[in-house]
Amino acid sequence: MDVKKTLMTLLNYRNLFFKTLSSKINKNELEEFFFWIIEHYCKINRIAYILNPNYQINDIQKLDMFEAISLLEQNMPIQYIIGETEFMGLKYFLNQNVLIPRPETEELVSWILSSLPKNKSILDIGTGSGCIAVSLSKFLLSCEITGWDMNKEILEVARKNARTNDVNVLFEIQDVKCINSKKNFDIIVSNPPYITTREKSLMKDNVLLYEPHNALFVDDKDPLFFYNKIIDFAVNSLNKSGNIFFEINELMMDDVSKLLNKQGFYD
Ligand code: GLN
Repeated sequence: MDVKKTLMTLLNYRNLFFKTLSSKINKNELEEFFFWIIEHYCKINRIAYILNPNYQINDIQKLDMFEAISLLEQNMPIQYIIGETEFMGLKYFLNQNVLIPRPETEELVSWILSSLPKNKSILDIGTGSGCIAVSLSKFLLSCEITGWDMNKEILEVARKNARTNDVNVLFEIQDVKCINSKKNFDIIVSNPPYITTREKSLMKDNVLLYEPHNALFVDDKDPLFFYNKIIDFAVNSLNKSGNIFFEINELMMDDVSKLLNKQGFYD
C-alpha cells in the first residue's frame, strides 16, 4: 500500500493495527498499545477517540504509526517505540540505553515512601532511567537524592527525566563494580541486575532483543555479584540506623538475606 496516498482515519488505522498484530500480541495488550500510540502521535486520548473515530491522520502521523506497527511486529517494546512510559504516575523518557521501569520497582519505591523518610540522603545505585531516584525526589521533598550509573548515555536519560519531572537529583557516573566514593548516605536503594544467564531461555524476545543486557543479567557463577558490591560499599558508607532497600530475584531471597546478616544488617 502506498502509505502517503491513502487517506486514513483512526478507525481505519485501528482495524489495520488489530489485523496485523492480533496473531502476535494478545487483545488486551493491543487495546492498550493502540491508545498509547494514538495518544503519542495524534494527541488523541481514549475519550476523544470514541467521540471522533473518523479523525483523519495526517501524512507524518501515518508514517510514524505504520512504523510503530512494523516495530511491534519485530517485538520491540511499545515503550521504546514511543520513547516513553509511566512510572509512579510520572512520565519517563526512555531509550534502549536504559531498562523499561517495571511495576515491581514501583512496589520498591512505595515501600521506601511508606517508611516516611525525612531529611535523609538517599542513593539509588544503577539508576538507569532514573525512575527510582526521580520518583523519590518528587515525593520526598525534604530528602536529598543521588543516582549513580555507569556511563553518560544512561545518565543523559536520567537527567532528562529529572528535568521533565521538575526535580533536583544529583546524577553521577559511578560503576558499581568499582565504586569510588567517600560519600555517606542514610538510605541506599538498588534494583541491580539479578537475572542469571541461565534464565535467558525463559525470557521473551521483546526483552532479549531490545533491553540492555548489562542492566538485566548477571553471571550464573556469581548471581549475587551486585548485591555483594553494594553491601560492601554500604558497610562503610551507610549512616548509623540507615536502611538498604533492594529489588531481588525471588529465588535469591534467602541468599541475599544471609549476605546482609553476615555484614551486620538486620530486618
Ligand atoms: N533503576 C532502574 C530501574 O529500576 C534501572 C535498573 C537497572 O538498570 N538494573 O528500572
